Amino acid sequence: MLSLARRQRLRCFKGYSGVRKYIVLAIESSCDDSCATLLDRPPSGPPKIIKNIKKTLDSTAAGGIVPSDAWTHHHRSMADAVSEVLGPKENRITPDIVCATRGPGMTGSLATGLHIAKGLAVAWNKPFIGVHHMLGHLLVPRFESNGELPQFPFLSLLISGGHTMLILSKSLLEHEILLNTIDIAAGNAIDCCARAMGFHGIMLGKEMEKLIMDPNIIAANEEEAPATLPTPLLNNSRKPGKIQAFSFACFESAIEGTIEKYYGGSVEPYPDSIKKALAIKVQRNIFDHIIRKIRLSFKLNEDKLKNITDFVCSGGVASNSTLRKMLQDSLPQIENFHFPSVELCTDNSVMIGWAGIELYESENLQTELSVEPLRKWEISKIMEADGWIKGPRKGL
Ligand code: ZN
Repeated sequence: MLSLARRQRLRCFKGYSGVRKYIVLAIESSCDDSCATLLDRPPSGPPKIIKNIKKTLDSTAAGGIVPSDAWTHHHRSMADAVSEVLGPKENRITPDIVCATRGPGMTGSLATGLHIAKGLAVAWNKPFIGVHHMLGHLLVPRFESNGELPQFPFLSLLISGGHTMLILSKSLLEHEILLNTIDIAAGNAIDCCARAMGFHGIMLGKEMEKLIMDPNIIAANEEEAPATLPTPLLNNSRKPGKIQAFSFACFESAIEGTIEKYYGGSVEPYPDSIKKALAIKVQRNIFDHIIRKIRLSFKLNEDKLKNITDFVCSGGVASNSTLRKMLQDSLPQIENFHFPSVELCTDNSVMIGWAGIELYESENLQTELSVEPLRKWEISKIMEADGWIKGPRKGL
């Protein structure tokens, strides 16, 4: 139930007030997922997903994402994904606007989706919007409520294999990174630790969580399953209380050291109870580090964050139930937690379509067709990229 003060603050998304529905084609190709979505945007209420396709590259054999493999994958998959969402050839839908991820991400991957989107915008003579990938992640919790919840300002923890950031979103175009990783992302660290512990599959972190959540396997005790794991970026007398950043690279070397020291170089011959105990420790240490730094951020940014009551946790790791519970237990100042569905948490093109809709309707923004993919593009500098066109929407 929303408080009165909150309801008074709550304003509806003042976006589209058109007289007819319109159709949005959205493309995402920043990493190794070829994603295409067709959205139906009615004059009122949230958009409906007409069709959503995601073709993920299986990088298991390569042991991780290889940029040239991802680029090749997009060349092979993206046109088919777009073709599938547009429907059968004899009854094909022509969208009214085209959105695609412009950055940040791997240049070759981004270019594939961007070029297809631009080509279709030219062929159909329709507006084109180049979307910031992180903006998609930040805004997607607002998709189902048609932009009503969460209201700005809100805090987001974006946690995946590619990013780990705490971001304060003050408005559609104003985003401040409060915490970022100084090395690798949390999801990447979890995957690396899981691989070192002998887990297999495309989603190593998920496999590890599956074992942790398995009620039939009892975790071994401390003596049976010793481990030495770090607590990175701890404040000490030389750096008193001010290290506002995440760091996860140390976890992989620590688990490798632990396996070498206590388990003769491999956990595989040991029973699942040992593996489970180690997995719990790895996960807990990584999440403890995240929570500690978020609490530090609240302490050091008291003025900025005193009115924050909404917290979004999004990204591939956001579906982890242990992380969700730890966040809810550790941040009593937050009234509303938002956990988007797994499909909307991981990289997808629904979020790119929705961010495009918000940019188009609230800010009247489109993008010139001459823009190139941006490997680096800070979320705090969205409007500093070239190629934005601001002007009245036509034809809707
Ligand atoms: Zn992402």
